[in-house]
Amino acid sequence: MSKTVAFIGGGPASLVSAIKLKELRNDLDIFIIDRNEQLLKKLRMTGNGKCNIAPIKDDVSKYNNQNFVKKLFDAIPFDEYLRELAELGILTKIIKDYGYYPISESAPNVAEILINKCKRLGIKIIYDFVSDYKIGKDLVKVRGSKENYSFDHLVIATGGKSHPETGSKGEMFLTLEKHGYKINPLVPSLCPIKVKEDVSSLFGVRGDAKVSLYQGNKLIKEEEGELQFKSDALSGICIMNLSKYINPMEIYTIKVDFLMNKNVKKIDDITCKEYLLSLVKDNLAKYVMKELKIKEDSLLDSSNYERIVKYLSSMTFTFDSLYGFKDAQVTRGGLDIKEIDEKFSSIKEENISFIGEILDIDGECGGYNLRFSISSGLLLSSYLLTKM
Ligand SMILES: Cc1cc2nc3c(=O)[nH]c(=O)nc-3n(C[C@H](O)[C@H](O)[C@H](O)COP(=O)(O)OP(=O)(O)OC[C@H]3O[C@@H](n4cnc5c(N)ncnc54)[C@H](O)[C@@H]3O)c2cc1C
Repeated sequence: MSKTVAFIGGGPASLVSAIKLKELRNDLDIFIIDRNEQLLKKLRMTGNGKCNIAPIKDDVSKYNNQNFVKKLFDAIPFDEYLRELAELGILTKIIKDYGYYPISESAPNVAEILINKCKRLGIKIIYDFVSDYKIGKDLVKVRGSKENYSFDHLVIATGGKSHPETGSKGEMFLTLEKHGYKINPLVPSLCPIKVKEDVSSLFGVRGDAKVSLYQGNKLIKEEEGELQFKSDALSGICIMNLSKYINPMEIYTIKVDFLMNKNVKKIDDITCKEYLLSLVKDNLAKYVMKELKIKEDSLLDSSNYERIVKYLSSMTFTFDSLYGFKDAQVTRGGLDIKEIDEKFSSIKEENISFIGEILDIDGECGGYNLRFSISSGLLLSSYLLTKM
């Protein structure tokens, strides 16, 4: 009888791993079990629907648990990763400053290619919610809400908790805790940062800025990019990258520099409002006038000029809280990596492996998270190839 491998969770980590394994070991019976009737729901949203599938180049400093990530990337170097994607039917190109994307710039197309490949290879897809599993004498028994199943090997790839409407709601973390695994606290990451100041009048304003996260006087992280204001929060990729370094229990300030050493010299015979309008968007100009208590028709003198330049190069906001999981791109925390070996298999339970975002590994925006999740699936498939 054929040996069986089941992947719980139909995300990119699972599908890529299942395809690679089946291509090389057609004798194995491979299953993917997902609660959704549509696989790869989260992948379809990535990169604003364009799928930022890899960064411009590897940079382990963009992740936590960097030694673990480095070993994975040593095993699957960047060029090999891109080659593997091409073999799967995902041809990529660089979008300058952002990273690698499929040439089609379509995340739904990537999903369709991977799902069709699974079906063509005879990988069986089961739509069911898995609530628990039990290690039997020879087989792993899996409890689904529709049926119970048994497999020789179980790969758990149920993701984190971000955007729970995609199916990654985090129930598996509770199951794993019952199995004795250490789950590190789950925190939304790569999300907008709510601030204590009233920024409602700035809603919708966007502008290039340098943003810096401080804890007291200590600089934690600095980024440049397009800042966007929400009615109660700061957002944009640069802000999301700062969110990764925030412990919600601590106190932080965020400094925003809209001028970034631009040559903003003083101009004669101009009002403060006109001067501000030459530098920033209308609503931000009004906000600055209000904060600095400058009257509409005040002429730009040296004192106002200095106050405006100083303010726009160091606007300070106070951290209130992180937006929740429903607005986060990834989950910080998860299954402690001490619970697995370098081949992504449990050190506690026989015939159990973990890949993807369920693990306590997360990266910054820019393709780092898919690079990790997909590579973990690739490495696991090469291990299962010989193990099964
Ligand atoms: C809006 C958004 C944009 C993003 N953009 C990017 C980007 O451009 N680049 C990048 O690198 N990363 C991006 N990410 C992050 C990236 O999508 C994830 O890191 C990646 O999808 C994780 O893959 P995974 O296979 O581990 O888990 P997931 O993709 O989360 O898949 C897990 C699957 O498991 C299923 N599941 C969960 N629990 C159960 C259960 N108990 N039983 C059965 N099935 C279950 C879920 O339904 C889901 O289909 C983005 C994320 C979001 C939310």
